[in-house]
Amino acid sequence: MPGLLDAKTALILGVANRWSLAYAIAQAFRREGARLVLTYQGERQRSTVEELGAELGAELVLGCDVTQESELERLGAALGESLPGLDCVVHSIAFATREDLSRPFVETSRSGYLLAQEVSSYSLVAVARTVAPLMRQGGSIVTLTYLGASRVVPNYNVMGVAKAALEAAVRYLASDLGPSNIRVNAISAGPVKTASARGVKDFIKVLDTVAERAPLRRNTDPAEVADTAVFLASDLGRGVTGNIIFVDAGFQVMGL
Ligand code: NAP
Repeated sequence: MPGLLDAKTALILGVANRWSLAYAIAQAFRREGARLVLTYQGERQRSTVEELGAELGAELVLGCDVTQESELERLGAALGESLPGLDCVVHSIAFATREDLSRPFVETSRSGYLLAQEVSSYSLVAVARTVAPLMRQGGSIVTLTYLGASRVVPNYNVMGVAKAALEAAVRYLASDLGPSNIRVNAISAGPVKTASARGVKDFIKVLDTVAERAPLRRNTDPAEVADTAVFLASDLGRGVTGNIIFVDAGFQVMGL
């Protein structure tokens, strides 16, 4: 059976380990026939991501710290030299300090606020600027967000504010890049136990609450997030841009 992403080339930023949402997305993209390029943030992660990339049959595994303009430029140049073009990009990156995900939001430091915005929100703009010239046939950019962007989730704090900015950036980028047939969307995933999520104080309580109250009475499986990313990256999603799609067992519709 033909894959939904046959003949498409996908860049996936944010695979840290097998628990990463980006890893589940890379597996699903591979299953659907995409050629993969993965990135890692720094030397600390290099061998792990290279190993995962080899398992996934990735064509390239490149370094890119999204806070460094020079690294984004190098990434764009390396992709331009090695690939005929790019069709899909997954931005699955966020960071805030552990203190800012545990103390009251009102105590957020200036530097912690700016750091969360830079890594978790501005980086989407910087990545989109880097990849857009390579998406010559149009394409799809997908980022990952969370309900804490629009509702108060205990301890999500500064990351909720960064996700609100990220979601606004999705809309502005969709407007800018739409004439080039580049679509930009976000998946709002339900909570999943990953390295980043473990940085949020009392994260286990969030998982328990969702399993108890979500319409589907369970938590989100990373494979469900990944299949929605496949839809958005494929031609099935050709009419969808500027959207936030919830993949959260329905939790966001509940008032209490
Ligand atoms: P994860 O596996 O820890 O992935 C986060 C990734 O961001 C890691 O690969 C990390 O690299 C990367 N990163 C951080 N700073 C970076 C930088 N300066 N340059 C390049 N990469 C950087 O956790 P995850 O839960 O899968 O998170 C992926 C995305 O999903 C995030 O946007 C997150 O907010 C979102 N999300 C997660 C959940 C959840 O419950 N897990 C729910 C909704 C949305 P290093 O490991 O090398 O630092």
